[in-house]
Amino acid sequence: MADRAIHFDNVRFGYGDGDFMLRIAKLELGRGERAAVIGPSGSGKTTLLHLAAGIAVPEEGAVRTCGVEISGLDDAARRRFRIRRVGLVFQEFELLDHLSALDNVLLPYRLTRALRLDDAARARAESLLQRTGLGGKGSRRADRLSQGERQRVAVCRALVVEPEVLLADEPTGNLDTDNKGRILDLLLGCADEAGAALLVVTHDRDLLPRFERSFDVRELSG
Ligand code: ADP
Ligand code: MG
Repeated sequence: MADRAIHFDNVRFGYGDGDFMLRIAKLELGRGERAAVIGPSGSGKTTLLHLAAGIAVPEEGAVRTCGVEISGLDDAARRRFRIRRVGLVFQEFELLDHLSALDNVLLPYRLTRALRLDDAARARAESLLQRTGLGGKGSRRADRLSQGERQRVAVCRALVVEPEVLLADEPTGNLDTDNKGRILDLLLGCADEAGAALLVVTHDRDLLPRFERSFDVRELSG
């Protein structure tokens, strides 16, 4: 349906080298809905997020995100779409080591002309760093931050464009209990404020009650 934030229909995806195959008969996430994805290592959780973000393209079936059939866009259009409208916290963060924490948060604005780096964007980036406990570390190079700090920068970068769909791949994996709670509060709070849908991959079963629903990626094959 066009009004869904995320909609997978009879999707099949493999990497081409190896025998892994992800099948998703149906997956629907409403606007503003918050769901958690669980499943053992190697079951396809990261692949699922990459399909929703348009980083990976299905061999069969359709993926619609924010009502746009991204599986039908060419590479450049898909990349533009992802940077502008989807916030993705990568499992491996994907920060640029030589850039400061602040410049990493502002990276989406350097990747596409469709976004304008104005005072409001800078203020949002500063405020996100503040809210994640990194207020004093904006000018520090990413390679001089701890793992947990890098993870929080990755979360800020996903949020700075005020995405309609927020995808987070084990965003609390490297954090202590206090910071775990803070990051989850931030993700849920920002998704709420923006009316964004939120899909979070997690191994923390104690976080599951904070989501409206949770599912195992292996249940989706139909
Ligand atoms: P999870 O996030 O649940 O641990 P992934 O989605 O990362 O699982 O991976 C699912 C399967 O796809 C695994 O068997 C993994 O080895 C394989 N895989 C992941 N990325 C690639 C890639 N770029 N090329 C080939 N195989 C991959
Ligand atoms: Mg993964």
